[in-house]
Amino acid sequence: MGTLLIRPPGHRRDIALRPAATAMVWVGEGHPHETIAVPGVALADGDVLVAVEMSTICGSDVHTVQGRRSAPTPLVLGHESVGRVIATGDAGATAVDGAPLRIGDRVVWSVTISCRSCDRCLQGLSQKCRTLGKYGHDRVGVHGDLTGAFASHVQLRDGTAIVRVPEALSAAVLAPASCATATAWAAVARAGRDRDLDGSAMRIHGAGLVGLSAAAIAVEHGATVEVLDPNPGRRALAARFGAGPLDREPDVVIEASGHAVAEALEGVAVGGTVVLVGSVFPSDPVPLDAESIVRRLVTVAGIHNYTGQELADAVAFLAGRGRAYPFADAVGAVRPLLDIDAALVEAAGREAPLRVGLVPGR
Ligand SMILES: [Zn+2]
Ligand SMILES: [Zn+2]
Repeated sequence: MGTLLIRPPGHRRDIALRPAATAMVWVGEGHPHETIAVPGVALADGDVLVAVEMSTICGSDVHTVQGRRSAPTPLVLGHESVGRVIATGDAGATAVDGAPLRIGDRVVWSVTISCRSCDRCLQGLSQKCRTLGKYGHDRVGVHGDLTGAFASHVQLRDGTAIVRVPEALSAAVLAPASCATATAWAAVARAGRDRDLDGSAMRIHGAGLVGLSAAAIAVEHGATVEVLDPNPGRRALAARFGAGPLDREPDVVIEASGHAVAEALEGVAVGGTVVLVGSVFPSDPVPLDAESIVRRLVTVAGIHNYTGQELADAVAFLAGRGRAYPFADAVGAVRPLLDIDAALVEAAGREAPLRVGLVPGR
């Protein structure tokens, strides 16, 4: 009996893990996760090995396990985490701010892995790299097993945007930074490219964590923000993230629900900007009234994921003015990593908290 180890090419540094790392492998719809033990990893020169402190379940993880979004299996899901650097490859690695990463640094990291050299990366579209990798999205295999957040450790590959985070912020605030908060930051920043947000009126469709985060970020940029959501509990939460009524047509509409694209396009003021960020799952096509968009001088922009700098900016917001908002309350339940199947059911429930957290056993 032998074991075939698939070892990627190139120079590697072997790291033994005692006890072994644990990863929860999703093998397909309707099957429970399988727990695997990973006794060691081979770090490439620019890799970083992180021990997970907490991961959170994003809506896209729920969609995947429900079979509403295709994904290659076997797969370690999850792309929202905070953790601590426990090893680096021989070349070391640097954070987004250019400072070298050290053992013990507490970090968050981008969902995307980019080459930094293709035409898109050089244009600043690193989240659309020609050879893009994504944590929690790629089949386990050539890049090892520790490729998603639903694990005790994640092997961060060269090309990941890594941001050092303050010890004072709770894991519940930090874990969602690498999806919800950074995406919200990117959406608000996109609107801010068209106009000064200070004094602007903004409508946000959808009081999920992206919409709520965008509300707080926009309010801190001087906007008056309204959040629309069919759920009264979520609307009440939106008020705590700075939302209130608008007294005029919105200059900016951020569609973060995926269900209100037509309303977003119709509702924006003349000369306004609509930022679409919620339509990340297959849905029915929306009729586009091109004449109306033309005559009203409307700008429509799509936002998907974010750049490394936007992740760093989102973390700086959470560590600064974002402290005035109840980001920590987004994680309404914390479960052991091994209870992932029950946690995913909980996250899919009608009255689910914004996020369910998962913590590895120690
Ligand atoms: Zn996500
Ligand atoms: Zn690239």
